[in-house]
Amino acid sequence: MTTNYKPIGPYILLNGKYAGKALEQLMFLDYGYIIWKYKFLKYRILRAEELHEYKHLRWLIIQGQSRQSQEICPYCMKNLVSCFFVISGSYGKLKVSSNYTVCADEICHEKCIQKIQHQNERLFDFVKLPFRFSSLRSNTFGIRNFKEHQRMITKLFQIAFRIPVLRKDKLFQFFSENYDEIGKQIYLFPRV
Ligand SMILES: [Zn+2]
Repeated sequence: MTTNYKPIGPYILLNGKYAGKALEQLMFLDYGYIIWKYKFLKYRILRAEELHEYKHLRWLIIQGQSRQSQEICPYCMKNLVSCFFVISGSYGKLKVSSNYTVCADEICHEKCIQKIQHQNERLFDFVKLPFRFSSLRSNTFGIRNFKEHQRMITKLFQIAFRIPVLRKDKLFQFFSENYDEIGKQIYLFPRV
């Protein structure tokens, strides 16, 4: 799925609870809001500014599905990581770590699982998710401590994408990059 909308800068909200923030920042800070707002605007007759916001949201959601991680897989030390594991321990406590990120290679996947099992005594369950923004809405995390879990995973995204500070201009650049030419772009619109 592609979009013809070509923004020239970040979209900054003028009112509401996130006034002053850019939608680009909310992709990291509150992805649930991005999806909610997109759906909210989708079924309305929009004024010009709302239409602009709707198009920008749609563009961000699509771009968020194909960002390229910059971190090297800790198992093969060769490929870039594409997935991370979320580990559930006792009392529903979740854990993520740069050590539990992997490339697409099956062997690395197996090595990572071995490490997870070795390092986590009270292991209850684990799941592998891609470094796509739709993963920030995964039901895996459960209702309890949802916000805290999301924050943990957002931090992991910041490491993988090498964005330590969520600056509006830097984030706009990050979401504007296209990977068509190297065949890495995956256009997948998340279920909303
Ligand atoms: Zn690997």
